[in-house]
Amino acid sequence: MSGESFNQIRVSKSALRHNYRLLKKRIGAEVRLLAMVKADAYGHGMEEAAIAFSQAGCSDFGVAEVGEGVRLRNSGIQSNIFVFLGFVHSDVPLFFKHDLVPVIYNIESAQALSVEAVKRNTIISVHVKVDCGMTRLGLMVDTLDDFISELATLPGIKMEGMASHFPKADERESPHTSEQFRVFKRLGTGGLIKHTANSGGILYFPETCCDMVRAGIALYGYYPDGLTGVEFEKDELLRPAMEFNTQVLQVKTVPANVGVSYGHTCITKTESRIAVLPVGYEDGLSRRLSNKGEVLIHGKRAKILGRICMNLCMVDVTNIKKVKAGDPVTILGSQGNDTISGDEIAGWMDSISYEVLCLFGNNNERKCI
Ligand SMILES: *Cc1c(COP(=O)(O)O)cnc(C)c1O
Repeated sequence: MSGESFNQIRVSKSALRHNYRLLKKRIGAEVRLLAMVKADAYGHGMEEAAIAFSQAGCSDFGVAEVGEGVRLRNSGIQSNIFVFLGFVHSDVPLFFKHDLVPVIYNIESAQALSVEAVKRNTIISVHVKVDCGMTRLGLMVDTLDDFISELATLPGIKMEGMASHFPKADERESPHTSEQFRVFKRLGTGGLIKHTANSGGILYFPETCCDMVRAGIALYGYYPDGLTGVEFEKDELLRPAMEFNTQVLQVKTVPANVGVSYGHTCITKTESRIAVLPVGYEDGLSRRLSNKGEVLIHGKRAKILGRICMNLCMVDVTNIKKVKAGDPVTILGSQGNDTISGDEIAGWMDSISYEVLCLFGNNNERKCI
């Protein structure tokens, strides 16, 4: 294709399928594995990722907003699609038209769905979100009984499941997850599909898996506790699915004591070879990586020099021989014997792999292979 960007994200479908199968094996045949594909599948591309997970056996998907659910349905996915963040009332018909499962946390949403269901002479299934200690979206536990009683009086709506969410399941030593799970376990009645485990729950607190789990980051090949998770893994490793590559635009030699990029926050100490790359914060390479991040060229590490610009950045190739314009550069992934992982980049940014994947994936051209 002509006019392609220098900056290319590659997503491996086989890695996505591998991760799905690996998690499914761990949770067992009876537990449903819902794939969280919000945020364009954490930057991997919602439709393509959903197809890969489907091929591996997935039949439950989770998105944040109703518009994402409609997009996913229109892409041909025929399985369950859960919408987790609620909705404005004018969007209620979309749940019926596209067969989406609302996850609700207030009675007004239930009433609006009930009215529409009666109008359409149908019954809609909903899942109820309960806050057992995350202090984010969800009904407070002490209001749940009243909520369920009120819901039961509404026509055309059926409570099919109940969800909660863990704030600290990535901390395997913390007692919080088990304490919160004890609360969640005794809520609701029999017959409900209960789900609360995220990737951390699945990997570090398998007893919390219930009827269904909701995996995000692990499906994309990363551990919720980053490199610690990799280090402690006793089983087969998850496989990162995303790579980010670009190429060198220009190489120049500059003397010592020259300022590099905006603000001259980097001054060369010796004569230096500098490669200019066509990637900047607009492409998801966070400005927080200025003077900090590294990339791979000829299989070797090159450090980012000075501030990252909107579409450009500079790296030090003084110690890498014969670098020239057009040479491939790896921002995320492997080159030669070295690998830069999302966890390593997250470390430089004081962030988590989740943010790195979203930034890279959602700001560049993607190919799912
Ligand atoms: C994003 C999300 C998940 C997945 O979390 P991971 O840590 O990526 O596994 C699960 N449940 C809800 C409600 C979410 O929003």
